[in-house]
Amino acid sequence: MIYEIPNRKFDLIIIGAGVIGCSIARQLSRYKIKVTVLEKNSDVGWGSSGRNSGVIHAGFNNKPGTLMANYCVLGNQSFAQIAQELNLPYKKIGKLVVAKKEKEVKELKRLKKQGETNGVKNLEIIEASEIKKMEPNLQGVAALYSPETAITSPYHYTISLAENARQNGVQFFLNTPVQGIERIKPDKFIVITPYASFQANYLINCAGVYSDQIAGLVGINAYRIYPCRGEYFILDKKASSLIQHLIYPVPHPEEGGLGIHLTPTIDGNVLIGPSNEYIEDKEDYSVTRKVLDKLYQKAQEFLPVISSRYFIANYAGIRAKQSPPEQGGFQDFLIEENPTVPNMINLIGIESPGLTAAQPIAEQVVAMIDQKEGLSSNPDFNPYHPGILRFAEQDEETKRRLIKEDSDYGEIICRCEQVTKKEILQAIDNPLAARSLISIKYRSRAMMGRCQGGYCLTRIMELLKERYDFKPEDFLLKGPESPLLVGYRSKGVNNDD
Ligand SMILES: Cc1cc2nc3c(=O)[nH]c(=O)nc-3n(C[C@H](O)[C@H](O)[C@H](O)COP(=O)(O)OP(=O)(O)OC[C@H]3O[C@@H](n4cnc5c(N)ncnc54)[C@H](O)[C@@H]3O)c2cc1C
Repeated sequence: MIYEIPNRKFDLIIIGAGVIGCSIARQLSRYKIKVTVLEKNSDVGWGSSGRNSGVIHAGFNNKPGTLMANYCVLGNQSFAQIAQELNLPYKKIGKLVVAKKEKEVKELKRLKKQGETNGVKNLEIIEASEIKKMEPNLQGVAALYSPETAITSPYHYTISLAENARQNGVQFFLNTPVQGIERIKPDKFIVITPYASFQANYLINCAGVYSDQIAGLVGINAYRIYPCRGEYFILDKKASSLIQHLIYPVPHPEEGGLGIHLTPTIDGNVLIGPSNEYIEDKEDYSVTRKVLDKLYQKAQEFLPVISSRYFIANYAGIRAKQSPPEQGGFQDFLIEENPTVPNMINLIGIESPGLTAAQPIAEQVVAMIDQKEGLSSNPDFNPYHPGILRFAEQDEETKRRLIKEDSDYGEIICRCEQVTKKEILQAIDNPLAARSLISIKYRSRAMMGRCQGGYCLTRIMELLKERYDFKPEDFLLKGPESPLLVGYRSKGVNNDD
């Protein structure tokens, strides 16, 4: 199945390196098949996969019998194993869906029943007194308690999937936007990007909000994605003592989200959000004063102790919705080989719970390929990816041992998050060769603390200069469009000019 010219000819091309593309890439690396991933951004996980709540949902919100319900429950129940293989941070902290009025209790009972039909375990309706015991700062008349709901780091998950796939032989081309697709035979595609063309006999379209446009490149006009933005506030770690569980309102499915919730993150912050707003521009990640005010007000209704002094940053993610604004709500995931274009699998409308469902979705896609192609196992596949050891999380004895073994552990570069030089260097040397400042931030946690890089940014730039001989124009915040340094060197200041 492999063509003559190496490097640009593959058996299979994945378009889009979000959690779905990276899961499929890793799942395929279990087999002998030559795979590449083409990603328009400078790193993986910069679409909705790195911009969500990081919740591994239990699966009670989705309609029984749907792919969303089945894959969410499977994804939740298998996540502990993936977390162990990829050394991911993962905590089953449990979720409370809180009814503020008696009339909402009926909906809690419906959700419980729906969850049980889907196979969700250990769901329980609890009374106000029990809520107070579990969450003293919270107000509500009753709640649905889901102990199986968990949290992880969504960008850490996506990066680890990609790096593990890379280590198992998958090639990644970053900064490589797909601009055209030619079908030269029914089972042979040429994928055109600004710098090169790539050939393969299978295509997997997992381009998130752009999946309809990618399908359009081969003449499939049956799909339409409506971008729907969700904005968040990030609260300082000082707010982490305010809640122990995920706190959700009773959802109103017609709104197309699960309601503005309070989410403890795996890194010890708390998120407020997301909002739910259909937008025109698929790249419009702006955060707006109007929505942020609403988030604050909603959060205070639950937790009056929340105050604006806890706010440290904000961000937004964009849902890839199939349901148009006038309809709202959720439409099931669509995973299909459109009959007009065989050998191309389209993943359409992979909105929440897509992070939770990524592994079962990947298994489904690989089963579709296997059915046609008859894949044989890769005997060298290694599912383990230890990632970067977090110095700050080690006990004192281990810290002392690490410093003795490698003095780079003895130098703190990011003071807020206590990230050492060793961890920054490991992040810089990542297997995908993604070296923008944001890539280093997501891998090491440097620049994520209270000062947001005020202290460590220039130190990290020094390391990049030492290690890879970076010139001023090589320092990029996110990618080629965001140089960190701009301007001209003045003749009077630098004698070399
Ligand atoms: C606000 C919000 C909150 C959410 N919360 C949760 C949650 O708590 N739990 C949960 O399970 N799910 C959640 N989700 C859903 C989850 O984030 C998504 O289902 C999942 O990230 C989808 O992954 P993806 O790989 O399909 O899409 P993406 O992550 O968007 O990846 C698509 C990739 O394709 C690339 N691409 C696009 N066009 C091209 C092109 N022309 N050429 C090359 N590359 C291209 C993009 O750059 C991007 O990297 C949430 C989503 C949002 C928006």
